[in-house]
Amino acid sequence: MRDCSKSDRLLDWYGKHARDLPWRIAPALGQQGVRPDPYHVWLSEIMLQQTTVATVLSYFEKFVTDWPTVGDLAAAPADDVMAAWAGLGYYARARNLIKCANIISNELSGVFPQTREALLELPGIGEYTAAAIASIAFDKSETVVDGNVIRVISRLFAIEQPTPKSKSQVYELAASLTPSQSAGDYAQAVMDLGAGVCTPNSPNCSVCPWQSECQAFELGRPEDYPKKQPKILKPTRFGIAYLVKQSPDAWLLERRPPKGLLGGMLGWPGSEWGSSPVETPPIDTQWFTPDQSVKHTFTHFHLELSLRLAIVDRNQYPRSGRFISGNEFSPSHLPTVMRKAYVLAQACEIFQNPANPEGQN
Ligand code: SF4
Repeated sequence: MRDCSKSDRLLDWYGKHARDLPWRIAPALGQQGVRPDPYHVWLSEIMLQQTTVATVLSYFEKFVTDWPTVGDLAAAPADDVMAAWAGLGYYARARNLIKCANIISNELSGVFPQTREALLELPGIGEYTAAAIASIAFDKSETVVDGNVIRVISRLFAIEQPTPKSKSQVYELAASLTPSQSAGDYAQAVMDLGAGVCTPNSPNCSVCPWQSECQAFELGRPEDYPKKQPKILKPTRFGIAYLVKQSPDAWLLERRPPKGLLGGMLGWPGSEWGSSPVETPPIDTQWFTPDQSVKHTFTHFHLELSLRLAIVDRNQYPRSGRFISGNEFSPSHLPTVMRKAYVLAQACEIFQNPANPEGQN
């Protein structure tokens, strides 16, 4: 049975405290039946997976400026879309974004499906995103469960089972609160409550509309919820990246295979990433090895990337990759780990002072 009093109280709070975000419409307009553009909702939800609102804002603005409709996005060269996505991480999302835009534009006449079930058929749209789009863009009564919702519901009901085992319990309790009307506003209200009030480390219970019924608040230690499984340590992998500059101003780059980590993105030629990487230089030359390596953390592992740097002449040809001139290449087109390598390399003697060959060994 739905608990309307809790959801009504949260909706009242949302009417006064909703975050002003470019993909949203104000709650007052929502009350009048105005709905946000499903393209904006979809784009923002895909970008927000694993990424913060603060990071997503500038990317979202760029995407909707460059490609104002899903048709424009579908018609854009894939390389341009991947380059615009660079830095947001989780590049499979960008590849699925392109596939999804193409299906909506070419097979569905540019019209987004409205139901959770139909949305789930599209690439890159899982349970959470389908429920979010159906509820926010089309006001369907779907239950949206993201990290914020898990935290808020776990505290509200003092759920003792640790995450992620508590997932189905959280979903059932969240569903019991989801209203049959204004479900989109309700979903965004729980997200806003989690982002601004019921925060991970220091929830501001004194301003929370759910304080009077919150069991974790009653117990006095809300930040102890949600209960967590002991952390599994991430392994460290090692790799080698080759940064080759061709005078005067071209860089040796290669596009990574379409599937897998950083799939389809531009990057520096390099070794496999594992416990003991094997040298695979893409060109015969002398290499300079900086003392420092690049450190980067992915979802499931840490990476330590050793760099090999070289400057070559125009008459030297690579075994892999191709030279891209400085006019066509911007480091902002690279995924973050590759950009870190570029920044570190640029600070090295060999690129700072190319006339001095002492750096090369
Ligand atoms: Fe979170 Fe505190 Fe509100 Fe409970 S009372 S939902 S712990 S902010």
